[in-house]
Amino acid sequence: MAGNVHRAARGSRVAYLGAMGIQVWANRGTPAAVAVDPAVPATALVGGAAVAGAAAGGAESGNSRPEITHMDWEALQQTAGDCRLCELHGSRTQVVFGVGDRGADWLLVGEAPGKDEDLQGEPFVGRAGQLLNAMLQAAGLRREQVYIANILKCRPPNNRDPRPEEVLCCEPYLARQIALVRPRIILALGRVAAQNLLKTDTPIGKLRGTVHRYADTGIALVATYHPAYLLRSPLDKRKAWADLRLALANAKGPTP
Ligand code: SF4
Repeated sequence: MAGNVHRAARGSRVAYLGAMGIQVWANRGTPAAVAVDPAVPATALVGGAAVAGAAAGGAESGNSRPEITHMDWEALQQTAGDCRLCELHGSRTQVVFGVGDRGADWLLVGEAPGKDEDLQGEPFVGRAGQLLNAMLQAAGLRREQVYIANILKCRPPNNRDPRPEEVLCCEPYLARQIALVRPRIILALGRVAAQNLLKTDTPIGKLRGTVHRYADTGIALVATYHPAYLLRSPLDKRKAWADLRLALANAKGPTP
């Protein structure tokens, strides 16, 4: 019975790896399936405090609204839900605050709500969300086990890039979410998330493959491609799988 459950779970994971474009080999005579992926360093930490932009401030970095740094979840969600600090409040259907386990080891950060997210009030729904779920499953995680948020809580018109002034207005909410969750690992999904979290303009291709630290918190941060990009560029799914492996290898440390 337990063997059947184990085989079913393995089959599900293999199916998800297949959806990500990862070739899976099964050794003859052994039950184990091994995903073939590029070599991933167990840890590629850049010096202790590592990192581009790490000196840019603490977990509440960029927070020009000190009252937010003491808010509990309820007050924070209420304040964000009523927020009109930037012009995006005028075109949103609703604020997309974040979703998931508020005590999660993994915190995933994307760019901003898209059309589906704006309508449903939840980050990463639609096709990109389905791919993200598949990526998590391949890593042995369920969506409910992680916390997911965005750099911006409101949808930019026509999905344009967030503007610096919008990020500045919105980042105290995310900083407080990170401080409340206290994750072991932050996975930055895409260029906008990675560059804003790390306070750098280094291209995403160069931010990948290294374990950064978020601000001065010591929380490990790994950058990878946005699932929406991977839908357009499926050949890079293999690199995203390598990024997930790097995050997995660095998600086991003590909670900061
Ligand atoms: S994007 Fe952020 S700062 Fe702008 S209105 Fe929405 S919640 Fe407020």
